Amino acid sequence: MKIETMTIHGGYTTDQLTGSVNTPIYQTATFKQSSLGVHSGYEYARTKNPTRSALERLIRDLEEGDEGFAFGSGMAAITTTLSMFSQGDRILMSDNLYGGTYRVIDKVFKRFGIEYKMIDTTKLQNVEDAFNDEYKAIFIESPTNPLLGISDIVGISNIAKKHNSLLIVDNTFMTPYLQKPLVLGADIVIHSGTKYLGGHSDLIAGLVVTKTRELSERISFLQNAMGAILGPQDSFLLIRGIKTLAMRMDRHLENTKKILDYLLTNPNVSKTYHPSLPDHPNHAIAYAQSTGSVGIISFVLKDTIHIDTFLSSLKIISLAESLGGIESLISHPASMTHASYPPAYRATIGISDQLIRLSVGCENSLDLIDDLDLAFVKAGSNDGDL
Ligand SMILES: *Cc1c(COP(=O)(O)O)cnc(C)c1O
Repeated sequence: MKIETMTIHGGYTTDQLTGSVNTPIYQTATFKQSSLGVHSGYEYARTKNPTRSALERLIRDLEEGDEGFAFGSGMAAITTTLSMFSQGDRILMSDNLYGGTYRVIDKVFKRFGIEYKMIDTTKLQNVEDAFNDEYKAIFIESPTNPLLGISDIVGISNIAKKHNSLLIVDNTFMTPYLQKPLVLGADIVIHSGTKYLGGHSDLIAGLVVTKTRELSERISFLQNAMGAILGPQDSFLLIRGIKTLAMRMDRHLENTKKILDYLLTNPNVSKTYHPSLPDHPNHAIAYAQSTGSVGIISFVLKDTIHIDTFLSSLKIISLAESLGGIESLISHPASMTHASYPPAYRATIGISDQLIRLSVGCENSLDLIDDLDLAFVKAGSNDGDL
């Protein structure tokens, strides 16, 4: 089955009782047992709920893994996955990870005696040099947020395997429509379902997909033991969101291309980051490991542009945390998503105060470009092309 078909039909077989075309929302905490130890396969809804199970099969099939797991947020998915590790274990991580991931590792798991080291994983040599048998896992995002650095997933997976170590990939920015880390050699894939998979900025959810039966059993145990599951209503909403994933992603990418053309010739922008640009350091790898680029653009405004005025002058594009919804959202990484990194460290990884991240939505790109154009004028543009 092709992925577009799978997003619409995957994970669900028509309800035997009613023929319902859509997954019913099983709003129940428990399931009646016909006699001692005899049940339908469902006992208690923290362990398993049929609506959540449909979503979990869907994401498993989309990512081509062994088993899927749904959580109450992307962070719940990440926290549960990191709970596989024990005191004294060491993990490597990309130096540009989602701020919340860095925060939970640095402020929570470190207290439990799990050690980490951050490296620039966009250079394979760095990974090779930093790795040794003491590392139990490497946790990466590709592309990274917000500078859209690309890490070589196949290359990193080969290094991790040499050291008997797990490769964990946060695939939130790409989704399985564009990139399948498990097929490229990763062991665990994580998603914030809040972003492209949900697609409408109307729910918070997280997903994990495992590559092997052994990992599935470990995550399954932790999901039930820690209990950070996704409820049936949100499971339904996330399934509904995924049904339009392919169409939305195509539109996101089409609009991204048009906005990139606009930004590249804009005199108020000093730098634009996107993997589709030929000057992107890992341009070739980006296209080798995925079937398309990403619907996010980061760019640096010249100092003559007053950043606060620019952001608050936008009418269609909303200043907001999050990304991946059908509506365009813009953010200021230094004070928003990456505020949990120390300022000096932020500077070393290139997150300056003039940096903007745009999650390109599915509106008409002409309206988005007009919106940006007007905001530039209000914020101090002197190019006078309006
Ligand atoms: C948003 C996000 C998360 C966290 O997900 P929540 O659903 O907000 O908990 C993790 N990783 C990435 C890349 C994200 O963008």
